Amino acid sequence: MPFVSCSAAGCVYNCSRQCGLTALRVSGEKARRAASTCCASFCGDGDPAALRPDEFSAVSCSAETCRHNVSGRCEAGCIDVRGQRAACAEQTECASFAPNF
Ligand code: SF4
Repeated sequence: MPFVSCSAAGCVYNCSRQCGLTALRVSGEKARRAASTCCASFCGDGDPAALRPDEFSAVSCSAETCRHNVSGRCEAGCIDVRGQRAACAEQTECASFAPNF
């Protein structure tokens, strides 16, 4: 399970540049670069329940073209989600994507 740092300040789960979710989803079917991935758990509004920053998160990920992906789970030690001005999931990306091809 990776530690998730995240610059998507517009997400309600963001806690001082860390993801406060204990489980999240990254999308990236057939991704060939980081820009083809995104954090599918991004949420622009709402009232989040208890957040847990400073913890590792279970990350399910559909980017099977990433070498950190093991059977749909991210096995990296830490990942960097980016989206400083993101207003929706599609404007984020997993900058830790590392192609396995
Ligand atoms: S590092 Fe790779 S496997 Fe982990 S969340 Fe990012 S794209 Fe998915």
